[in-house]
Amino acid sequence: MYEPRLETMRPEKLRELQLERLRKMSRYAVENVPMYKRRFKEAKLDPSGIRTLEDAAKIPFTVKTDLRDHYPYGILAVPIDKVVRIHASSGTTGKPTVVSYTRNDLETWARLMARTFAAAGAGPGDIVQNAYGYGLFTGGLGFHYGAERVGAAVIPSATGNTKRQLMLMKDMRTTVLCSTPSYAMYLGEAALGEGYKPKSDFKLKAGLFGAEPWSEEARARIQEVLGLRAHDCYGMSELYGPGVAVECANQKGLHIWTDEFLVETIDPETGEVLEPGKKGEMVFTMLTREAMPLLRYRTRDLAIIDHEECSCGRHHPRIMRIQGRSDDMLIIGGVNVFPSQVEHVLMNVPQIGDQYQIIVDRDLLDKLSVRAEVAQSFPFDKEAERASLAKSLESDLQALLTVHAKVELVPHGALQRSEGKAKRVIDLRKG
Ligand code: ADP
Ligand code: ZN
Repeated sequence: MYEPRLETMRPEKLRELQLERLRKMSRYAVENVPMYKRRFKEAKLDPSGIRTLEDAAKIPFTVKTDLRDHYPYGILAVPIDKVVRIHASSGTTGKPTVVSYTRNDLETWARLMARTFAAAGAGPGDIVQNAYGYGLFTGGLGFHYGAERVGAAVIPSATGNTKRQLMLMKDMRTTVLCSTPSYAMYLGEAALGEGYKPKSDFKLKAGLFGAEPWSEEARARIQEVLGLRAHDCYGMSELYGPGVAVECANQKGLHIWTDEFLVETIDPETGEVLEPGKKGEMVFTMLTREAMPLLRYRTRDLAIIDHEECSCGRHHPRIMRIQGRSDDMLIIGGVNVFPSQVEHVLMNVPQIGDQYQIIVDRDLLDKLSVRAEVAQSFPFDKEAERASLAKSLESDLQALLTVHAKVELVPHGALQRSEGKAKRVIDLRKG
């Protein structure tokens, strides 16, 4: 562990620390951010009215559009001369949101990222290949500073140039790979295609994969090809970036660093706080952020949070796998479908490759189709085998999704590979 005292703090102690910080943070936000001053006034709430952690529920939510409405610096709680870094989200769902950091914010972020690396077993002596995008996206610099902080050597390879990545991985004896899970899959496939024997040519022991949803089946594939232990990690630019939550060696859910974040799950429709263990939208309050404090920030990410103890010794609650954003949910003839469910079905079938697309269209009714690459070993030209594979997938999908999805199989290599966040859904009903 990088900070054993904080990482193993008992739940009661954690709650005490959270409450102390929450009270301080509420006051800080109200005194320094006009938006919060107004919101608290409208809610007839004074920071001194926050006496228990449950009182957090009285604080109004902050949503993504608040950031856009205050673009670019409206939520700053410090004068601009205290800001030392500015990032922007990748804007998957619209105009980018700008996030600013003070020196202390960068320090906190680097510490949380160092914990993230330590949770994956990385430290001095490790060679970290950081294949996240460097730039406005928080992935590159977030992992970079965390790797340095934990004492590893970092290769800032960034995304793309896949052949060179593989050469570096072998020659530099990379032990820890950081990338999106979709790029990790592609790296594995490309390694085999280039004639590498990943398990003996590479020295990989762990991977830190996040920034997009991925399934347990995808994890199994990545681990099998690259011969490493794949850790899921979660974050978002509004909450510093990556480093909000990570899996320990148990790989059973992502520990949220709750000394820095107060987390609640709410019913996305009513905004009501749900009991622990119920699936809902995660809402985060940053407990020590200086430049851009966010109180009860609605992530739109749906997950279940588990408070059971973990044998690793960390008492921080865990996000059981993130189902995806509520924005990503497709409504097909009134039925809710998550892209992650489709992935779950596809990746379970060895004859199917790693790449797929989900296409939604409408003539009179909604039509869902799934275009999937077959595995390299699959005899694509044998029509009968193709038809029978498609048919069995259609029935698996129907069983899980309860709506019909037409399956189109395409040859191995036909679909575009992703180097960052994969774009797998094509919704032709929009626009
Ligand atoms: P943008 O919002 O523009 O995509 P971010 O890079 O900040 O910019 O993306 C954060 C989002 O990425 C999260 O809200 C979540 O939906 C997704 N995400 C990040 N990590 C994971 C993960 N491990 N599993 C699933 N989704 C993730
Ligand atoms: Zn653990």
